[in-house]
Amino acid sequence: MMYDRILIRYGEISTKGRNRNKFIDKLRKSVRKAIEEFPNAVIQADRDRMYVLLNGEDGIQVSDRLKKVFGIQSFSPAIKVEKDIEKMKQAALALVNDLFSEGKTFKITGKRSDKFFELDTNGINHEFGGYLLNRISGLKVDVRNPDINLQIEVREEAAYLSAETIRGAAGLPVGSSGKAMLMLSGGIDSPVAGYLSMKRGVEVEAVHFASPPFTSERAKQKVIDLTQKLAEVSGQMVLHIIPFTEIQQTIHKQVPANYTMTTTRRLMLRITDRIRERNGGLAIITGESLGQVASQTLESMYAINEVTSTPILRPLITMDKTDIMDIAAKIDTLEISNLPYEDCCTVFVPSSPKTKPKLEKVQHFESYFDFEPLIEKAVNDTETIIVKPGMGQQLEEDLF
Ligand code: ATP
Ligand code: MG
Repeated sequence: MMYDRILIRYGEISTKGRNRNKFIDKLRKSVRKAIEEFPNAVIQADRDRMYVLLNGEDGIQVSDRLKKVFGIQSFSPAIKVEKDIEKMKQAALALVNDLFSEGKTFKITGKRSDKFFELDTNGINHEFGGYLLNRISGLKVDVRNPDINLQIEVREEAAYLSAETIRGAAGLPVGSSGKAMLMLSGGIDSPVAGYLSMKRGVEVEAVHFASPPFTSERAKQKVIDLTQKLAEVSGQMVLHIIPFTEIQQTIHKQVPANYTMTTTRRLMLRITDRIRERNGGLAIITGESLGQVASQTLESMYAINEVTSTPILRPLITMDKTDIMDIAAKIDTLEISNLPYEDCCTVFVPSSPKTKPKLEKVQHFESYFDFEPLIEKAVNDTETIIVKPGMGQQLEEDLF
C-alpha cells in the first residue's frame, strides 16, 4: 500500500465546545494504546482531525486496530503531497491505478480550504478527472455511485489524497465520561451493558460476586475471559472478585425463601457501592432488562435500588433479549457467556422468588440481622485483578 498516513475524523467529539481538547487528548491516548504494536507510527492531533503517520508501519493492520476505537467516526488511509499540480497528479494516478480493475468507475471529490490554491473545487474535479481518464484505459466516471471516490483535499500546509472512507466505532473516547463499576456476571447481558457504556466514554471496572465452592474455578475463569474481551476496547480492565459465600448462606438462614433474591441483590448493590467509592467511580452499571426475570420488574428494582442513591446505569433496560444477543455476538462475548458454568445467583436461586417484592417487607426481614460486618469483610477480602487483552493476567490483591 502506498499510503503514508491515516486521517481520522472525530465525529461527535467535535460538538463538545470547550471540552474539546480533553476529548481529543483521550482519543489520542486510546489510539496510542490501540496501535501499541506499531512503534514507528506517530499520532498528530489538531482541532478537527487526527493523523496517524505510518512511517513504514502496515496501513492495513493499523486500520484494523482503529476500527475498534470509540470516538472515531470514520478514517481514511491517505497520502500527503506537496501542493504542486504535477506532483498531485502523479500521486493520484498511482493511487487510482492501485485500486483500479476492469469495469470499475470513479469520481473525484475535490475540497479546498486553501482559498489561494490555483484550482477551485470544480477545477480540481475537472483537471484530475480528465488526467486520469486519459491515462487509465477502461476507467469510467460515475458521479453517483463510484467504485473509487478519489478525495483530493487542498489545505494550507499540503494536499491530501485518499480513496476509502472506513466507518469507525463512533461513540466517545473511553475515559471521557468518568468511571463506573460494572456488575459483571457470567451471563449474556452484563458484558453487553459494559460494552455500551464504554462506547459512551465510560471507564469501566468490573465487579463480580463469586461463591466458592458452590461456584467453580471455571466459572471465575469465564468472568476473567469476558473481562478480557471488554479489555480489548480499553487496553486493560480492573476486575474485582468479591467473596460472597458467607453472605449468601447467611441470607438463606435469615430471610424467608421468597425474599432471598431481593436481599441478595440489595447486598450486592451495597458492596458494589463500597467498591465504587474506594476506586473513585461515579455510577454502577448492570445488565438488567425490564421484565426479563423476577429481579428485573419495576417493583424489584424499586426495592433493590433503595440501598443506594448512586446513579445506576442500565443500558439494556428497554432492549429485547434477541437484540442483546446480536450485540453480544458482534463483540464476541456470546460464545463465552453461553458456557454452562454456574453463577452465584443460580446456585442459590429460590424456587419462587417474589416478582413484586415490597420494600417494607424486605427492610423488615433484614432488620433482624446486622449484615454490616459481613459486608465489610467481603469488601476487605476482595481480590483485584488487572486484566489485559490477549496476555495472561497480572494478579494484584488488595489494590486499594
Ligand atoms: P446477565 O446475563 O448479565 O447475567 P441476567 O439476565 O442473568 O443478566 P440477573 O441474573 O437477574 O440477570 O442479573 C441482573 C444483573 O445483576 C446482571 O446483568 C449483572 O449486572 C448483575 N449480576 C448478576 N449476577 C452477578 C454476579 N454474580 N456478579 C456481579 N453482578 C451480577
Ligand atoms: Mg445472570
